[in-house]
Amino acid sequence: MRTSVVVFTCDLRLSDHPPLRAARYGGGRVVPLFVRDPAVDRAGFAAPNRLAFLADCLRDLDARLRERGGRLVLREGDAVTEVCRVAAEADTDEVHMADDVSAFARAREQRLRRALEADGRRLYVHDAVSTAVAPGAVTPASSDHFAVFTPYYRRWSAQGLRDVLDTPRAITVPEEVGSAQLPERGDVSGVSPGLCAGGETAGRRRLTAWLRSGVDAYEERHDDLAGDGTSRLSPHLHFGTLSPVEAVHRARRVGGAGAEAFVRQIAWRDFHRQVLAARPDAAARDYRTHHDRWRGGKNAAADAEAWREGRTGYPVVDAAMRQLRHEGWMHNRGRLLTASFLTKTLYVDWRVGARHFLDLLVDGDLANNQLNWQWMAGTGTDTRPNRVLNPVTQGKRYDPDGAYVRRWVEELAGVQGAVVHEPWNLPAQERARTGYPKPVVSLAEGLDRFKRARGRS
Ligand SMILES: Cc1cc2nc3c(=O)[nH]c(=O)nc-3n(C[C@H](O)[C@H](O)[C@H](O)COP(=O)(O)OP(=O)(O)OC[C@H]3O[C@@H](n4cnc5c(N)ncnc54)[C@H](O)[C@@H]3O)c2cc1C
Repeated sequence: MRTSVVVFTCDLRLSDHPPLRAARYGGGRVVPLFVRDPAVDRAGFAAPNRLAFLADCLRDLDARLRERGGRLVLREGDAVTEVCRVAAEADTDEVHMADDVSAFARAREQRLRRALEADGRRLYVHDAVSTAVAPGAVTPASSDHFAVFTPYYRRWSAQGLRDVLDTPRAITVPEEVGSAQLPERGDVSGVSPGLCAGGETAGRRRLTAWLRSGVDAYEERHDDLAGDGTSRLSPHLHFGTLSPVEAVHRARRVGGAGAEAFVRQIAWRDFHRQVLAARPDAAARDYRTHHDRWRGGKNAAADAEAWREGRTGYPVVDAAMRQLRHEGWMHNRGRLLTASFLTKTLYVDWRVGARHFLDLLVDGDLANNQLNWQWMAGTGTDTRPNRVLNPVTQGKRYDPDGAYVRRWVEELAGVQGAVVHEPWNLPAQERARTGYPKPVVSLAEGLDRFKRARGRS
């Protein structure tokens, strides 16, 4: 009987899974394999929140495989060595996996292809597993990738998506292939107390609930910081416990302005992936440099630390930074304004902020994180690279009665109304009673410094 290996990476699901479908084509046995590779940790990708979420995902994947007569095989060690070892144990000549865009993943894929070929085996890499539209599937006439979102989105929208694939009903795993013990969420320390649950079961449930009662109001509510009117599907899209192709198809079936706006955000995700696929160095280097000489030294380090700890003295910035620490997730509007604050108001290098986000975000994703940071720093694909978000104006606009700030900044929990965004306007005694810090810098001073740095004053 034919046997194939399916290597799972950031596609931890059984539904709509092209590598699994190809491996099972015509029947036969499958080894569903996940390799826990210490090189991923060494490269700085492993963070407690993502490891805990991953543990949920692996357990759920194993449970779903067992319901179908199979099981997940977990190995620990160098991914290439382990995949080759499992392929030999299962006596198979084909290995399937999803494509990925980071330099790390690309190098791994190449090494794996060479190692398998040396053993007379073949690697099949499938696209449109982690994206709705594969990187490179749509390109402008004169370049290998789109650098501006709007024309990309036009082409992306016109691109036909593949059909959603069925979830297999039965899976046979060869008995002779053993597995290491699956990790548990409880094994991981340093996890945010409000971290959400991982796994395909949770992801599918969330998508269904979101499409039933959430997406309709998305267009009006997506920027409402306190209202929590976004899907919170990002960790599931990152770990692939949800298929972006399926999410787009299902949202389009719901239809309407909300669903359209939601689908557009998924296109943003694909957009960043096609940029990173074409320019892998954008994970660490300016995509479009302004030759910034970011602040360094003790004062900048102290400012960055105040930002990380959520004690900048700007309530909406601090609320968002505390939400990040507590939940391992932050509202998109919060991400935008905290990133603007660090890179423009404090004029600290975007890589400092991106690193902190990657240390905490459960959806922390190289393409989305680094390129959104570059967008906000003005070194990326934003066509208005010098825009600065004013945290007071942003707070008043997107958290008009201050509910978001009161939820996350406990010193200000008793301050009623919009004045919570400007605690310096409270009567002196009341203000002192809150114990809330003074602003690390005045907004005017920050703006002036930024303009000078960019040669605009
Ligand atoms: C500085 C900064 C860092 C970010 N880092 C990440 C990250 O590491 N991982 C990540 O998934 N997103 C990141 N984002 C994008 C965005 O903030 C999150 O995807 C979104 O907040 C997740 O919440 P949601 O699932 O409720 O989103 P929804 O608003 O419900 O959107 C649906 C999906 O669309 C995608 N999406 C939404 N906004 C964007 C965007 N601006 N760029 C790319 N994809 C988007 C996400 O996959 C999201 O789950 C970052 C944004 C900024 C400004």
